[in-house]
Amino acid sequence: MESDFDYLIVGGGAAGLSLAYAIAQEPRLQHKRILLIEPQAKNQNDRTWSFWTDEPTPFDGIVAYEWSKLAFRSPGYEQVFAMKQHRYKMIRGLDFYQFVHAALQAAPQVTRVTGTVESLENTAAGVSAHTSAGHFTARYAFDSRPPRLEKDLAKYRYLLQHFVGWEVETDHDVFDSTTVEFMDFRGEQHQEARFIYVLPFTSRRALVEYTLFSAEVLPTAEYEAALRSYLSETLGVQQFRIEAVEQGAIPMIDHPLPARVGQHIINLGTRAGRAKPSTGYAFRRIQAHTQRLVAALAATGHPSEDLTGDKWQFGLFDTLLLDIMQRKGESTRAIFAQLFQKNPLERILFFLDERTSWLDNLRVMNSVTPWPFLRSIGHVLRGRPGRR
Ligand SMILES: Cc1cc2nc3c(=O)[nH]c(=O)nc-3n(C[C@H](O)[C@H](O)[C@H](O)COP(=O)(O)OP(=O)(O)OC[C@H]3O[C@@H](n4cnc5c(N)ncnc54)[C@H](O)[C@@H]3O)c2cc1C
Repeated sequence: MESDFDYLIVGGGAAGLSLAYAIAQEPRLQHKRILLIEPQAKNQNDRTWSFWTDEPTPFDGIVAYEWSKLAFRSPGYEQVFAMKQHRYKMIRGLDFYQFVHAALQAAPQVTRVTGTVESLENTAAGVSAHTSAGHFTARYAFDSRPPRLEKDLAKYRYLLQHFVGWEVETDHDVFDSTTVEFMDFRGEQHQEARFIYVLPFTSRRALVEYTLFSAEVLPTAEYEAALRSYLSETLGVQQFRIEAVEQGAIPMIDHPLPARVGQHIINLGTRAGRAKPSTGYAFRRIQAHTQRLVAALAATGHPSEDLTGDKWQFGLFDTLLLDIMQRKGESTRAIFAQLFQKNPLERILFFLDERTSWLDNLRVMNSVTPWPFLRSIGHVLRGRPGRR
């Protein structure tokens, strides 16, 4: 096998496969030789990706479910919103892996190797990688290995979006299959942000997740108790079968995650900060990053200087929300309730996608009680994260 390539893609998960697929689809990059290195077979349904979008995606053909209504619930305020511009969609991990693997199989310029990258370095001509499958060189590397962080608790905020989800089947009609339960905050908060999230597939089948925004994961039994209590007390379901389980923890942090290391190593996915710090949503941000990278590579042969297009004001909003969650997690539910009560749904979704104007950002800020934010601005100005 040859050992020199144009592009080396490290990791074949969401970000690595999205990039490989987009390069293979771009006619101006057909002559590039790509090596994709990934240790796992990726033949398990290890996660589902959900996201909202107002435009077609390259993966619309494998969208398993799609919804046009979204519910928000808290003790003082509940609403079911009909989406106007957006749709909420779900893709199963396994469908995504199989779809991209098949497309890459038909792309002669892509070589897939099973292996682990042990070290990756910039050189004068590109990159050099030592891997369990041999030594490789390339002009650019795109690295999606999970980031390893030295936490600096005195400077940054570290939370997780963590959850356990059950795909359940019931004997009676229980779920409204037209409406995603986006955030149901009616349960106990225990000084944290805790909510139930439901993706209903049919009136008898749904993915029900107990989700938290907090610093520490819980013992599995605590998520399970909350799921049982939601099913029996909120939905009145006594009998159900658990058909599948999903468990995860996504970083929600303001520790900088650089988009580039030196001249030739470009980070991808979670490693490049594509998990939105204040929500944990990453799939759409990974797609936007991919599009941006491929457009620059196709037009100029190089990644652009501004790799992500991130705008500082949205980073500040994320930090403020993380600061509040870290300091007084239970106030998160009131902030989200005010957001949903006082803004059109589309504005909230565009805001979370970092696509709102300055004027709409002001409207969003104006819709929430200012005090927690002013306190957290104080922490940001002093450079010290808030603590409980
Ligand atoms: C259970 C779960 C559910 C999620 N659900 C959603 C959702 O609904 N919506 C949403 O927007 N986001 C969601 N996310 C967040 C995010 O979209 C995913 O974590 C996404 O997979 C991140 O993509 P990635 O490429 O950065 O990481 P991954 O998809 O994890 O890919 C990284 C790859 O790198 C490989 N790798 C690791 N070490 C090496 C090495 N040394 N050499 C080579 N390869 C290596 C791994 O095997 C892996 O395949 C979810 C996350 C989890 C964990």
